[in-house]
Amino acid sequence: MRVIINGALGRMGKAVIARTLETGNRVVAKVDRMIEDDGVAVLSNCDVEADVVIDFTSPSALDELLLYALKTKTPVVLGTTGYTDSDLQKIAEASKQVALFKSANMSLGVNVLKKLIQKAAVLLGEDFDIEIIETHHSQKKDAPSGTALLLYNALNDAFHLTRTQVHGRDGAECKRHPKEIGIHAVRGGTVPGIHEVCFLGANETLTLTHSAQSRDVFAAGAVRAAQYLCDTKASSGLFSMEDLLSSAYKTE
Ligand code: NAD
Repeated sequence: MRVIINGALGRMGKAVIARTLETGNRVVAKVDRMIEDDGVAVLSNCDVEADVVIDFTSPSALDELLLYALKTKTPVVLGTTGYTDSDLQKIAEASKQVALFKSANMSLGVNVLKKLIQKAAVLLGEDFDIEIIETHHSQKKDAPSGTALLLYNALNDAFHLTRTQVHGRDGAECKRHPKEIGIHAVRGGTVPGIHEVCFLGANETLTLTHSAQSRDVFAAGAVRAAQYLCDTKASSGLFSMEDLLSSAYKTE
């Protein structure tokens, strides 16, 4: 694959470049707004042909990214998190004309965790309170993490959209409502990402945890997602880890 890396100087961008090369693919352009040489600052200045763009930047890069994808008909893997509802609408709209792959977490483990917590929610039912705790490095911009929101949405789906999210708690009137799911963001050090989902019942607690020890796990997932987009040859559509995993289980 010929790959353009958007956000090439970032923590994830560097990990994705390494993974792209390790898997025998080519990095045909490095794009980053901070770049000085060996690349370009904006995608609109990128004039090389590519099979796919892998993006780990910030939501502010979205308009430029979608413009490029639509103009050149190049599929994009969106790894960035922190998108607003209006951003998500733009992504859905663009996916009618170009193939896009979006996941707030590219690791296999978190996507299995998503299935496990849905099962646990159904089995444990209304008697267990659910809280999500996420821990990330001190430089992470968005909170709560895109993955915490992904896990919350999976739980809310399991409860037929009857849950509400509460971010942290502060004040004198914080008694828990049974239908809420608390989401708590811990920040510090260099942690790539830990997500704990706690099911708290009467006299028993079940906690399911995913811990990423390195960004390489997200980079590997992103390169796999890029390969998936190239293999499907879809000219449009919005794909996710769910699609990738179900196709992997069909063929492997
Ligand atoms: P980072 O700050 O280290 O890197 C971001 C890079 O993007 C920077 O080099 C910055 O200069 C560049 N950039 C920002 N806006 C740009 C723009 N408009 N045009 C060009 N370049 C631009 O951040 P990071 O830790 O690499 O994370 C990047 C994103 O990926 C975040 O949103 C993070 O939450 C997300 N992330 C997702 C996953 C996943 O599995 N989906 C995993 C880890 C991180």
